[in-house]
Amino acid sequence: MAWFKREKKSIEQTTPPDERRVKTEGLWIKCASCRAIVWKKDLESNSSVCPKCDHHFRLTARQRLDLLLDGPWIEHDAQLASNDPLHFVDTKPYAVRLKEARRKLGTPDAILTAEGQLSGRTVMCCSMEFGFIGGSMGAVVGEKVTRGIELSIETRQPFIAISCSGGARMMEGTISLMQLAKVSAALARLDEEKLPYISVLTDPTTGGVTASFAMLGDLNIGEPGALIGFAGPRVIEQTIRQKLPEGFQRSEFLLEHGFLDAVVHRKELKSFIASSLDLLLS
Ligand SMILES: [Zn+2]
Repeated sequence: MAWFKREKKSIEQTTPPDERRVKTEGLWIKCASCRAIVWKKDLESNSSVCPKCDHHFRLTARQRLDLLLDGPWIEHDAQLASNDPLHFVDTKPYAVRLKEARRKLGTPDAILTAEGQLSGRTVMCCSMEFGFIGGSMGAVVGEKVTRGIELSIETRQPFIAISCSGGARMMEGTISLMQLAKVSAALARLDEEKLPYISVLTDPTTGGVTASFAMLGDLNIGEPGALIGFAGPRVIEQTIRQKLPEGFQRSEFLLEHGFLDAVVHRKELKSFIASSLDLLLS
């Protein structure tokens, strides 16, 4: 009897199980500051700045360079890679950490050195990758920054560093700490050559990177709301036995207290650096 026998398939049966759910994963992103749900494409077209509250999302080293430089850029010292000099092991071997980070990010270490045009002027630019073991500075990062500075001197071009780092790479022990002196010495030579160095500090810039090249710019520029410091607030509170003020270690606080020269919105960063270089080189 056809009138009580279902002849057509139900909706559920006609739609294959993997197509039943609407695919939204990865399309939306939650802002860490205002908790708004933002469409990823909107965010990307807005230089990864939250359209609701202006929160600056973290960028990869490559995204940074693409945002700052005019067109395609040439990468220098792309082959430099750490060889785990101490054979260090913590919760897992350092060699395994390196391998995983390299596979995930497709770069041999936590920094890219690029030569390209910034508003028509050739510059040398080092950009740090936080995703690579917290953007930590080991021998390779130190060496690449130093070589970047030396290339600047050789070619008489301004040097720009974009920091995004948790500090020195503990898995390389003293070798990572030696980078502080090496990079600082190279910057002193750049200064003697009267070539400008602009340091851009993004969220986060801490530890050995703050203690060396990030704070040595002719101009030190912070991104809005970026965490910038040497030791973490908890360590400082325990050491000085005092409560720290509100917004301590954020760009705006540091600007107010003379540690930074400017806090610049990501969308204005390129034009700000371009006019600063005009001024410094005139
Ligand atoms: Zn927001």
